[in-house]
Parts: sequence; structure tokens; C-alpha cells
Amino acid sequence: MKHLCLKCDGYLNYEGQEDMEGSLGIIFRCPGCGYRTAMVTNPAETHLVHSMGIRIGSGSLEHAPLELTRATLDEGKVTDIEWTEEAESRLENIPPFARPMVKTGIEKLAMEKGYKKITSEVMDEARERFM
Ligand SMILES: [Zn+2]
Repeated sequence: MKHLCLKCDGYLNYEGQEDMEGSLGIIFRCPGCGYRTAMVTNPAETHLVHSMGIRIGSGSLEHAPLELTRATLDEGKVTDIEWTEEAESRLENIPPFARPMVKTGIEKLAMEKGYKKITSEVMDEARERFM
């Protein structure tokens, strides 16, 4: 995911992360005009992200976005698992930056268990395991 600065028509750079009273703030900055923006997770999402072993912004600032990309690529095996509409809409509640990884985590669990379809129940199971 990228943030676009509408003023400069350019992409914002990842600047760093901040702990905001138990929430995780991911800070982006526009190299053109200095505009800054933050995505803030709620505590449950922060916990979910941490507990799934997703590393955000660890290491140097420059490498952080690559770590995310690498994690996504490593984990991003193509599966033929189907998602029910209900499960998909629950996935929509997860912050966009974490969604692909959460999705992969759930699909991994489903594959381990031999499920062919991600349902709301499978998501509950994944949640219990990861949280
Ligand atoms: Zn700008």
C-alpha cells in the first residue's frame, strides 16, 4: 500500500512508527511538501499484528518497508482456498497494511487443518491461536 500526496502527486515515504498509548502509529511523510500522515491501529489490531509475528518498522527506517514486502512475498504462496463473503468482510476490518499478512496467517492455519474454505469459524479459530 502507498500513500499519495494529492498536492505533489507523489508517494509519501515511510518515516517511522510511534507508540501511541497502546496503538501503533505508522508515520508517512511527503518528500515534496513535508506533509505527514499517520495510520493508527486500535489496541486489538496492534496486538493482532504483533502476535502474528509481523514486524513493522523494526530495523532501520530504510529497510522497514522492504521487510514488510519480504514477509509478504515469503508468505504469499498462492492458495486455492476460498473465502466466504462473511469471512471476507471480516478481513476488511483489519488495517490494510496488515491485511495480506493476516490473510496468509489464516490461510496457513486452514491448510494445516485441511480446510478448503475460510469461514467466520475458521477466523475465530485463527484469532484464538494468534491472540
Ligand atoms: Zn506533498
